[in-house]
Amino acid sequence: MLATACLAADFKNTPYWWEAAQPETTAPFDLPARSDVVIVGSGYCGLSAAAELANAGRTVVVLDAGPLGIGASTRSGGMVTGGQKFVVSGALAGHLPEKQKRILEDAKASLDHIEQQISQNNLDADYRRCGRLIAAVTPWHYSRLETWTKLLDVHAPGTTQLVPRTKLSDEIGGKHYFGALLINNYGGLHPAKYHKALRGHARSRGARLIGETPVLKVERNGDGFVVHTTRGDIQAGQVLVATNGYSDSAGAFLSERVVGAASYIVATEPLPTAILRKLNPHGRMISDTKRSLSYFRLSPDLTRVVFGGRASGRDLSEAAAAPHLYRQMCEIWPEIADFKVSHCWRGNVGMTYDHIPHMGIHDGVHYAVGCNGSGVAMMSYLGHQSALRMLGRQNRPCAFESDLFPKIPMPSAGSWIVPAVTRWYLARDWIDSKLANRKRA
Ligand SMILES: Cc1cc2nc3c(=O)[nH]c(=O)nc-3n(C[C@H](O)[C@H](O)[C@H](O)COP(=O)(O)OP(=O)(O)OC[C@H]3O[C@@H](n4cnc5c(N)ncnc54)[C@H](O)[C@@H]3O)c2cc1C
Repeated sequence: MLATACLAADFKNTPYWWEAAQPETTAPFDLPARSDVVIVGSGYCGLSAAAELANAGRTVVVLDAGPLGIGASTRSGGMVTGGQKFVVSGALAGHLPEKQKRILEDAKASLDHIEQQISQNNLDADYRRCGRLIAAVTPWHYSRLETWTKLLDVHAPGTTQLVPRTKLSDEIGGKHYFGALLINNYGGLHPAKYHKALRGHARSRGARLIGETPVLKVERNGDGFVVHTTRGDIQAGQVLVATNGYSDSAGAFLSERVVGAASYIVATEPLPTAILRKLNPHGRMISDTKRSLSYFRLSPDLTRVVFGGRASGRDLSEAAAAPHLYRQMCEIWPEIADFKVSHCWRGNVGMTYDHIPHMGIHDGVHYAVGCNGSGVAMMSYLGHQSALRMLGRQNRPCAFESDLFPKIPMPSAGSWIVPAVTRWYLARDWIDSKLANRKRA
């Protein structure tokens, strides 16, 4: 079959989510001469901070290089985690027990925070607590899930459940997996609707949101800063940089510490309800145990499959990436082979060397970056926490605030290290899948 045969006739290389809510092009406002706070980046982090600061009476301007929401926030899988990844990924290793405890508390607080924000402010985000399934791609990965369950039971008792292979059809269709771990305190939302609702929320508190205004440089000026943009300068009392996986132009400090890694997602054309019920009966958020993991879910209106992952070690166009993801999806659910891909898109996740997000202050400028692929709840929370810090209203420092923000070890590492690691992961996953096929037969 031709690689492109899986693409629907009306295939789009933009996010499926944008059908419901597009990034917003703003009118070419004059920039204000000054503002109490300028925020660089209009994703969940920047908007959450803006709403909090404006609510406290500060004048706030949010600037984005492109239309509002053009970054990862309207492109994600919309999976909403309470930080279980920190427990199972090894990211906590090397931290003292007290720090580990605080990281997990703040990760859990990020889930509580986003749920509260959505319900208290009536944000139209299609949010649902639906649980997350982590499915084992080999029998020996299932043993790993048993270990993870014990670890998660220590940190979040009563929230997880092992699903052996014999019971798996209650949770996921197909015969691909060897069992799964179900995490109950986990949700899903519509990323672009959540972003649109946050824009409305920040504006209702008085924040000004201005797109198509790249920030070129931030310079100290007396007690404050001059924010230089392509459309003029703004004097600011405080500045927050919230550029995450798009930090290349955010100055040397951040570009040496955060690498943008591309992740791709496809959406299928609408599928019959009976098939979708079989594939994912409870509408869970799902990922697997591959090194280069696949993550997938149903669209919030339960009409399509949305499937994400790394397509290849190379940088691909959306039309070239879609067949790779389609093949991975059909391996799990052969039924999908009768249907086509309607959308494929990509976005950058912000990776840090220690796999932990960071908020802090460098040369007087606040920053919050480094979602490491899980930032819907976390970057919303770090925006909120950064705002509290700027207002001097934190009850205690956030666990993700630290003076230790390691550099990515090699200069210009971002240009080759992510593709190289991705290729290595894909090769190891390929070997695992060949070995697992023998057990599956
Ligand atoms: C494909 C994909 C799937 C994902 N899936 C999930 C998921 O299922 N669950 C989850 O929790 N997380 C997921 N994530 C991660 C999540 O989307 C991000 O962590 C989160 O949206 C980051 O929000 P943010 O506000 O920090 O950054 P962003 O939303 O990326 O916003 C940063 C903004 O900064 C702007 N900017 C950069 N430089 C400048 C400049 N010089 N001047 C002005 N503006 C600038 C950019 O234009 C961009 O709009 C996914 C990410 C991707 C890409």
